[in-house]
Formats: sequence, structure tokens, C-alpha cells
Amino acid sequence: LRRAGPAPPPQAGEGCWVLPVARFLLLVRQGGMPVDARAPYDPDNVFARIPRGEIPSRRVYEDAHAVAFEDINPVAPHHVLVIPRGAYVSWDDFSARATDAEIAGFVRAVGAVARAAGLVEPGYRLLANIGPDGGQEVPHLHVHILAGRPLGPMLAR
Ligand code: 5GP
Repeated sequence: LRRAGPAPPPQAGEGCWVLPVARFLLLVRQGGMPVDARAPYDPDNVFARIPRGEIPSRRVYEDAHAVAFEDINPVAPHHVLVIPRGAYVSWDDFSARATDAEIAGFVRAVGAVARAAGLVEPGYRLLANIGPDGGQEVPHLHVHILAGRPLGPMLAR
């Protein structure tokens, strides 16, 4: 059904290319291309290749469900990434499709990695970026463990 009369006023950013382009440029400037958290899994993404030993990494932990290794570009004195062994693009994908055993195994692995590094007493931060607004760069679920200094506010204002 089409109504006669003047078109409604445009909402902020509606029908305008500036906002999407600005968001894309911001992500590129931050160092990575945006990941669609709902995209099909790419079996050749970098975090699929690290557990297979096709790309070198400084591995700090592995078990049946998870692998942990140092981030190549650390933003804190202690910056480790923990990934599930299964093929999951993002937290969204993992929480929707993974088995209870995979989820329990992964969560326990994250805790074990932090405990083994002695991070519980001084404290640490967990971070998982999901999709373009989350700033996700690699299309395989990963949790950042950040520690080694007071990490300040959760997000820059
Ligand atoms: P995201 O922005 O997706 O949450 O974080 C991706 C992280 O992966 C970044 O902190 C980046 O430094 C790290 N990274 C990207 N490529 C590699 C790599 O080949 N090896 C390792 N160890 N880390 C990587």
C-alpha cells in the first residue's frame, strides 16, 4: 500500500553512503577488515591454520577443546588469544551451534590459561569481538586475555 503525499523526512544517516564508508575506514585504520559474524566458516582463516601448525605461533596451552597462543600484536604486557578447536566464526556462531561439551571445555580452558599465568590475583580482562561494530578481524572465535598492568576503563570514551 502506497500513501500519497510528501515523503517522510530522512532519518540521520538513512540512504547516505557517508556513515558506512566512515565505519569501514575506521575499521581499516584500526588494523583489520570487518568480519561478518554470520558468514560461513572459512577453513583457511589464520586461526584455523595456527592449530594445524601451518602458521607459527607461540602456543601457551592446548587441550581437546582449545588452543591458546600469544597475540602477534600485543596491546597489554600479557595478551593471549584462546580459540576453540571447532570451526566457529564468532561467539554468536559458537553459542548457537557448539555442543555443551565444547562450550564447557572452551570456558574451562580460558580459565585454566589465566590461572596458569598467575593472573587471578592481579586480575585480567576477557574480550571477545563480534562482527563489524565489535571490531572482529579474524573469522574464528577467539577470546583475548589481557593483563599485566591496570587496564583502565573498559572502553575509551
Ligand atoms: P580481533 O580484532 O579479531 O578480536 O583480534 C584479532 C587479533 O588477532 C588481533 O589482536 C591480532 O593482533 C591477532 N592476530 C592476527 N593475526 C595473527 C597471527 O597470525 N598470529 C597471532 N598470534 N595473532 C594474530
